[in-house]
Amino acid sequence: MKLFETIKKMGHEQILFCHDEESDLKAIIAIHDTSLGPAMGATRLWPFASEEKALQDALRLSRGMTYKAACLNIPIGGGKGVIIANPENKTDKLLRAYGRFVQKLNGCFITGQDVNLSVEDVRTIRSETNYVVGVSGKGGGPAPVTARGVFLGIKAATEFSLRTQELDGLKVAVQGLGNVGKNLCHYLHEHGVKLFVSDLNRENTEYIKHLYGATVVEPNEIYCLDVDVFAPCALGGVLNSATIPQIKALIIAGAANNQLEDEQIDSMLLESKGILYCPDYVINAGGLINVYNEMIGYDEENACRQLKNIYNTLMEIFIRAKQEELTTHEASKRLAHDNIIRAKKLREGVAK
Ligand code: NAD
Repeated sequence: MKLFETIKKMGHEQILFCHDEESDLKAIIAIHDTSLGPAMGATRLWPFASEEKALQDALRLSRGMTYKAACLNIPIGGGKGVIIANPENKTDKLLRAYGRFVQKLNGCFITGQDVNLSVEDVRTIRSETNYVVGVSGKGGGPAPVTARGVFLGIKAATEFSLRTQELDGLKVAVQGLGNVGKNLCHYLHEHGVKLFVSDLNRENTEYIKHLYGATVVEPNEIYCLDVDVFAPCALGGVLNSATIPQIKALIIAGAANNQLEDEQIDSMLLESKGILYCPDYVINAGGLINVYNEMIGYDEENACRQLKNIYNTLMEIFIRAKQEELTTHEASKRLAHDNIIRAKKLREGVAK
């Protein structure tokens, strides 16, 4: 990878490569754009197959955070931390060393919990830095808020695409019944939606079947169901050249991060099939709204208002995509870009 060429193309401001000899820490902190505020992004620990893959992950996910916050007009920037390590080699020493690097950035980067880090681990990181969120449990944790945001996104998409405000009788397929998926099923069931669900874990499917009378299907059957909405709430990369041809749903609206395996190709493929895709980083912004509000001092009203903005922002994206003949993926990127440019101009104006 040509490093400066890549970060110039992607628009990153700063990349920090962290090494600590004593704990054998190897980590990368990517700060994408701080025009709207300090870069915020959770830290994941993963045994990446190569250093290049770790860097790519940090670059891509930090840029995604910038877009997410910018689309929703949340005054923070995009960042991401990755620790290159096997989960078995995770030690307090390693986490504390990482925390010291976060502290050195002096608030330019604020982090929290992601894959392979527990709330306990994040508390260990916090013993070395003030710049950590998501450990106090204020606001009830991010998953219910994320699910609520996805529910509002489904409402926006059905209104736009199916021209109905009524969810009663709608058929929704939910892939993945973890923290977000099960909460989403609750909101959908409350509104009379007929649920079709899949999960690798049988306990999860049985639980949702029992609670909401959902129809359980095998994981590989979830794509080809004759439903109105497909809600991916498990893994990234599930929208690709193998799955998209199978999809009968008219709307894709789910919480999973990085749903499109190839952003350009797969968003065009969905568009050509007449499927309305809700950009993942917009519809799943409830988690970010939750931690942001925790950071500024949790205020229920503020959090609710921002959450409702997921509905408004998606509507804006759908309308823009239609008017400018863009995919919704491209329209959301342009919206994020416009909001960043506006913030920069405002800041320059204030500085003059
Ligand atoms: P989770 O780990 O609690 O749940 C994921 C579920 O998906 C698990 O039950 C797992 O068994 C299931 N699963 C895995 N592979 C599957 C497959 N092939 N088919 C069917 N089910 C499968 O995760 P979560 O917190 O519910 O998050 C779900 C997704 O939403 C993730 O992609 C996450 O990155 C994203 N997301 C979550 C939040 C949040 O607040 N938790 C916020 C933004 C985005």
